[in-house]
Amino acid sequence: MTKIILKKGRDESLRRFHPWVFSGAIAQIVGQPSEGDIVGVFAQDGSFLAYGHYQVGSIAVRVLSFAGEDVFGADFWVNMIRRALAVREAAGLSNGLSTNCFRLVHGEGDGLPGLIVDWYDGVCVLQAHSVGMFRAKGAICEALRTVFGERLKAVYDKSSGTAPFKAGLDLVDGYLFKAEGFSDDEQVVLENGNKFLVNWTEGQKTGFFLDQRENRALVGRYSSGRNVLNLFCYTGGFSVYALKAGAVHVDSVDSSKKAIEMVARNMTLNGFSDSSHDDICADAIDFLREVPEDKYDLMIVDPPAFAKHRGALSNALRAYQRLNAAAISKVAPGGLVFTFSCSQVVDKESFALAVFSAAAQTGRSVRILDRLNQPADHSVNIYHPEGEYLKGLLLYVE
Ligand code: SAH
Repeated sequence: MTKIILKKGRDESLRRFHPWVFSGAIAQIVGQPSEGDIVGVFAQDGSFLAYGHYQVGSIAVRVLSFAGEDVFGADFWVNMIRRALAVREAAGLSNGLSTNCFRLVHGEGDGLPGLIVDWYDGVCVLQAHSVGMFRAKGAICEALRTVFGERLKAVYDKSSGTAPFKAGLDLVDGYLFKAEGFSDDEQVVLENGNKFLVNWTEGQKTGFFLDQRENRALVGRYSSGRNVLNLFCYTGGFSVYALKAGAVHVDSVDSSKKAIEMVARNMTLNGFSDSSHDDICADAIDFLREVPEDKYDLMIVDPPAFAKHRGALSNALRAYQRLNAAAISKVAPGGLVFTFSCSQVVDKESFALAVFSAAAQTGRSVRILDRLNQPADHSVNIYHPEGEYLKGLLLYVE
C-alpha cells in the first residue's frame, strides 16, 4: 500500500480527526498510487495517522479510517452502512410509516467522504463525489444488498454530474442493481405523510431535496389562512405542506419546466385542486419584481447554491442580499419569510449578515423568529464543520 508522509507539523488536523489531507501537507509519496486507491497516511516521525482514498487535487486524501489495523475487509462497507442506518433509526426516520425517504449516507458526516446515498422507499440513489467512491460503487451496492435484503428494490448510480471527470472514468448513470420485477425510474414516496413523486433519472440531484423535510413541516405550522409564494419550489415540497396546513392559496415558482410539471403531478397526488394552487415556470427574481405588495403573507425563498466555491463568495452574498431585499420589501405586513442558503461556503453568520443588510435596505421592522438548518440525516461530523451547509431564517416582517 502506498504511504503518504506528511510534512512536519501538518499532522495536527488529522490527529483531531479532520478527514482531509491537503496536497500541500504532503512531504513524500512512497509508491505510485492511482486515483481512488486506498493509501496509508503517516506523520513525519513515521507514526500512523489514517487510511483513505487518494486523489489528485487539492484534497489529496479523504480519510475512511483512523484505526491502525486493516479495516478494509469484506465487512467494511456493510459496517459503515449499518452505522449510518442506525443514525437514521435513532432519528425516527426509518420506520417507513409517515416518512419512507431519507439520506442514508451523507459523506463526511457518516465517515464516508465523497459518498452520498439517498433512500427512496427501497431505491438507493448513489452519488460518488470522489474517484475512490466511484471505483467502490460495486462494493457499496453489494453492501446495500446485504444490509437491506428484500427491502432493496434498486440501486441507481447517478455520479455522472458529481464524480471528477479528469480520472477518465466511464461516467454513465445507470442501475447497479434491480430487484426482479422492478422497472420504474420513478416512484411515490412519503414525507411526513405527504406524497411526492421522485424521479431519480430525470430529477435534480438524486431526485428530491430531502434536506428540507423539517423546514417544510415548520412552514406547515405557519401556513393556515395565508397566501403563500414558494420561490425556487422545485417539485413543490413546501407548497404541499402549506396547502395541507390550510393555506388559502399557494403560487409555486421555478425556472425548470421539468420541475414545474412535477409540481402539478404532486398537487394531484395530494388531492389539491387547481383553484388552491398555481404552478408558474418563471425566473424567481423576475417574478418577484412584478409581485404586487401585500399579495403574499408567507414567502419561501430557497434558491440553488449561489456560491459553489470560495472565489464566488462575495458575489453570492450580494445576490442573497438582493433577493432577500426583494422578498422582504414585497411581503404583506405581518407576513413571514422563510429564507435559505444551501451554499456550503456561506456560513450562517455571513448569511444572517446578508439578510440583515437586505432588511435594512427595505427599512421595515423585521424580527427573527427561528434559525433553520439541515436535518439529522444530513449529519455533520463534529470534526468536519464544513459539513454544515443548509441554513435559513424565519423572518416576521411588520
Ligand atoms: N425548495 C425546493 C428545492 C429548491 S432547489 C424543495 O423544497 O424541493 C433550487 C431550485 O431553484 C431548483 O428547482 C431550480 O430549478 C430552481 N432555480 C434555479 N434558478 C432559478 C431561477 N433563477 N428562478 C427560479 N428558479 C430557479
